[in-house]
Amino acid sequence: MDFAHSPRVTQLQTQVRRFLDDLVLPANAQWQRYAAAGAYPLDVVEPLKRQAQSLGLWNLFLPRLREQEPGTRLTNLEYAPLAEIMGRVAWSSEVFNCSAPDTGNIELLHRFASHAQTERWLAPLLAGEIRSCFAMSEPDVASSDATNIATRIVRERDAYVVNGRKWFITGAAHPNCRLAVVMGCSGEASGAKAHARHTLLLVPMDTPGLTLVRNVPVMQQQAIDGHCELLFQNVRVPVANRLGDEGAGFALAQARLGPGRVHHCMRSIGQCELALELMSARALERRAFGHALGDFANVQDWIAHSRVEIDQARLLVLHAAWRIDTQGATAARIDVSAIKLVAAQLQTRVLDRAMQVFGAMGLTPDTPLAQLWSWGRAMRFLDGPDEVHLRTIARAELARARAEAGSTSPYLQRWMPPHPDDLGT
Ligand SMILES: Cc1cc2nc3c(=O)[nH]c(=O)nc-3n(C[C@H](O)[C@H](O)[C@H](O)COP(=O)(O)OP(=O)(O)OC[C@H]3O[C@@H](n4cnc5c(N)ncnc54)[C@H](O)[C@@H]3O)c2cc1C
Repeated sequence: MDFAHSPRVTQLQTQVRRFLDDLVLPANAQWQRYAAAGAYPLDVVEPLKRQAQSLGLWNLFLPRLREQEPGTRLTNLEYAPLAEIMGRVAWSSEVFNCSAPDTGNIELLHRFASHAQTERWLAPLLAGEIRSCFAMSEPDVASSDATNIATRIVRERDAYVVNGRKWFITGAAHPNCRLAVVMGCSGEASGAKAHARHTLLLVPMDTPGLTLVRNVPVMQQQAIDGHCELLFQNVRVPVANRLGDEGAGFALAQARLGPGRVHHCMRSIGQCELALELMSARALERRAFGHALGDFANVQDWIAHSRVEIDQARLLVLHAAWRIDTQGATAARIDVSAIKLVAAQLQTRVLDRAMQVFGAMGLTPDTPLAQLWSWGRAMRFLDGPDEVHLRTIARAELARARAEAGSTSPYLQRWMPPHPDDLGT
């Protein structure tokens, strides 16, 4: 394992950071004003996209599969520090064409799309001409267990007909969202096993019968690109819109999540770094009871714990990225669960400390802190709640212990206190 950045990555870090500081940050107030008015700031984002693309700061997340696509091909380990920088201004990912859920959808299409699907959907996504969403979760079933997904997909001759309700579908309200990658149940009637019942369909957002019911506010905040409720009523798409095989939806949805979680976690770490910077600066300048806040031991503890925890989390995420790159997403499953758990909890913890140091101001929109705390809270559900990841990690650990059951560890044997008889008492 060598986590030192290559000269190429170091150069990209400098370029992305400079782009963020010189071009994105100055546009942030305008972006926020649009967002507060409920309008999508295409005027702000589109010119920045063109600039980023012309500099080659484009599709940076996409691991190398084919040479001919646009963008700079990087491994997950190489991309991770760039995602960390983008995390500092959350909307900046779009400027570099590195936004979720497009990134995951692009990876899926990149690996599994037919030639026609590639032409129709992957090419415009890679060019940043359209956006997309991934529609899995449903209000009526516990969606942390993807085998529960109940939206019905029924084949009728050369078409599939979709009926169901989805919610929290990120990106569906973006004005350029043209594609929903929809997971539904196609195999219930055939009695297929729970993990082989689901199918992914590529559904154009303007298909008759598909309604955007509402953009669901999260923690009282309305994301302008949306976490949307979608209704599918007799939505009909050609069989050619199926992604992968019938019944392969669960496996494809799982494959989509590994690198995406690395991206989320690194952006999260960037946001925690920003919070630590702001908290430290505030601790130096704000005075109470004759002292700078940074003179108080509890504030120093918060700063020190935040520093150490962020550095720990970063190493864990880089390790998971390295394992995905070198051994594949399946081998890295437990590492990916671990980083998702750690980063989401880290974000709420560090942001909570930063808000406390800022006093009441920390709860207002005058700093990014409250918004970032809320996002950390949301991260404890999206891409799987904490408890599901804990269960994954614990089950792997228990399976290891089970494999060794029956043999007493030499460490336990050697640590047993001696029997009183052995001591001659
Ligand atoms: C901001 C945001 C964006 C999202 N974006 C998307 C998106 O783009 N597309 C999409 O499809 N979905 C999206 N989601 C939905 C998200 O993936 C689901 O909320 C998540 O999978 C949990 O499903 P659920 O809400 O139905 O909770 P449930 O499955 O009902 O679980 C409720 C609770 O039960 C507990 N629990 C569940 N399983 C276990 C277990 N094995 N052991 C112990 N406890 C358990 C957990 O505490 C969990 O929080 C998003 C969610 C949020 C908040």
